[in-house]
Amino acid sequence: RSAGRAGGLNPDNGGDSDAKNLRVKLVLLGDSGVGKSCIVLRFVRGQFDPTSKVTVGASFLSQTIALQDSTTVKFEIWDTAGQERYAALAPLYYRGAAVGVIVYDITNPDSFSKAQYWVKELQKHGSPDIVLALVGNKADLQDKREVSVQDGMDYAEKNGMFFIETSAKTADNINQLFEEIAKRLPRPSPS
Ligand code: GDP
Repeated sequence: RSAGRAGGLNPDNGGDSDAKNLRVKLVLLGDSGVGKSCIVLRFVRGQFDPTSKVTVGASFLSQTIALQDSTTVKFEIWDTAGQERYAALAPLYYRGAAVGVIVYDITNPDSFSKAQYWVKELQKHGSPDIVLALVGNKADLQDKREVSVQDGMDYAEKNGMFFIETSAKTADNINQLFEEIAKRLPRPSPS
């Protein structure tokens, strides 16, 4: 049971997480409309298709990536799919999450404030070794930018988070986001 401590690595839940093949729960948070579903669809299906919005309650997709050291990481991605209002769902949603990805829209300062609220929520309710990433999405809309790169970076640094700007539309930095997260995951010690 040596790996049991490692946050959301869930070695007891399905048993397919080991030192070389990690399986992690990743929760997405952020205001409605910032592009969470589009980021996931871009990552998992390689598409940008805002019309194919998943409609089930809390949607769930998974995707495996291979790292250079021949480790694989299977992300089980939880998207609130518009349920972010229901505070009662939160404990269930956060439970066992190894990764929290908090998304805002660089053209929308309110979504940046909201992102900071979600960071606090995850710091309060998430597992102590959760890996947190702050994502400024819609980076293709430079002429409408209202949140500076510096503001995103500063906030992330203060909170010990990884920061990146992405565009689900152009695919910019989408794979990098998940690769960087994978590199930061605590590894279960080989038993
Ligand atoms: P969610 O509510 O956070 O899941 O947001 P969606 O993924 O449904 O996206 C909301 C809207 O933002 C849609 O109309 C998308 O077309 C648009 N969108 C998402 N990502 C991007 C992006 O990177 N660039 C641009 N320009 N639009 C985006």
